[in-house]
Amino acid sequence: MLLDSLNRPLHDLRISVTDRCNFRCNYCMPKEVFGRGYSFLGRDELLSFEEIEKIARAFVGQGVQKIRLTGGEPLIRSDLETLVQMLSAIPDLKDLSLTTNASLLTRERARSLRSAGVQRLNISLDALDDPTFTQLNSVNFPVEKVLTGIDHAVAAGFKNIKINMVVQKGINDHGILPMAAHFLGSGVVLRFIEYMDVGNANAWQLDEVTTAQEILDTLQSQYVVSPVDPNYTGEVAKRWHLKSVQHEALEVGIISSVSEPFCHDCSRARLSAIGEVYNCLFASKGHDLRKVLREQTNEAVLTKAIQAIWSARQDRYSQERSGQQPSSQKVEMSYIGG
Ligand code: SAM
Ligand code: SF4
Ligand code: SF4
Repeated sequence: MLLDSLNRPLHDLRISVTDRCNFRCNYCMPKEVFGRGYSFLGRDELLSFEEIEKIARAFVGQGVQKIRLTGGEPLIRSDLETLVQMLSAIPDLKDLSLTTNASLLTRERARSLRSAGVQRLNISLDALDDPTFTQLNSVNFPVEKVLTGIDHAVAAGFKNIKINMVVQKGINDHGILPMAAHFLGSGVVLRFIEYMDVGNANAWQLDEVTTAQEILDTLQSQYVVSPVDPNYTGEVAKRWHLKSVQHEALEVGIISSVSEPFCHDCSRARLSAIGEVYNCLFASKGHDLRKVLREQTNEAVLTKAIQAIWSARQDRYSQERSGQQPSSQKVEMSYIGG
């Protein structure tokens, strides 16, 4: 088994298929930074689907069991279903999922993604009321369309859909209880995520974080909340079962990346849309696999490069962060994918 320098195995791979997005969420791609003048990756710089597949196969050969497609907004990448088909044909890959803002999740798109081989969907939704939602996405995108996208995902047969809400103090924390009430009894899993200091564009401040404990306290003010055992070692979300007085239930996950980091269990590598491997969300530099791929098509060379990158990995930013000022060169979340 391939282990990093802190004995952590390599189990997950996040693949960013584009650094572009149709939203400008304030905590991820603030419009003041990602405006007209921003230089996104060029079309010709992106890895081709064949290159992504080659790299993914090599990662699976080194122990990766789960792949998640992300971005930017992955549904912006044209013909994504073809890539999904190619990846889902990789033997030994146990799980293929996708994270999306669901703005482009039409009925047809939900069906085609599922039949191409996406097994699970994570959908980002930070508020249920339009004033807050449009303020957050900064492009005046109505929340109703995202809710319709979620309905399409359910109708297409996706199971275990996860709804992800990044909670920012004073911005959308008033929406924790309404969000829980909305999804009660629906069968989806609702996950609350602490606002993280990823990248530099969002000018993150610690006092903007609603902590996992604060989220839990809010939920407990309204619901009977009991802990649920983790699905597997290294699961990032702490799981809870909520029950209302009417006995409607909801599974909730709370991700405490800031207040209670989980670097000791972090088994995730990230591949940028141009083929750099990042060992940590907070890394400032990636390792260029596209160069390896383009100079040397031999699979063994690619495998060796992955082994060298992972076995040298020492990253545990969130556990070391306390008291430190963030580095000025962290990669942006929209570039490597959440
Ligand atoms: N565009 C897709 C979406 O929003 O679902 C996929 C890419 S997005 C970068 C992936 C996830 O990262 C989203 O759930 C988003 O809310 C989360 N995210 C982005 N910036 C974050 C931050 N600073 N703290 C916590 N989560 C963040
Ligand atoms: Fe786009 Fe997702 Fe970032 Fe929002 S969180 S700006 S939807 S990439
Ligand atoms: Fe993993 Fe880096 Fe996050 Fe720690 S800070 S959990 S090493 S991505």
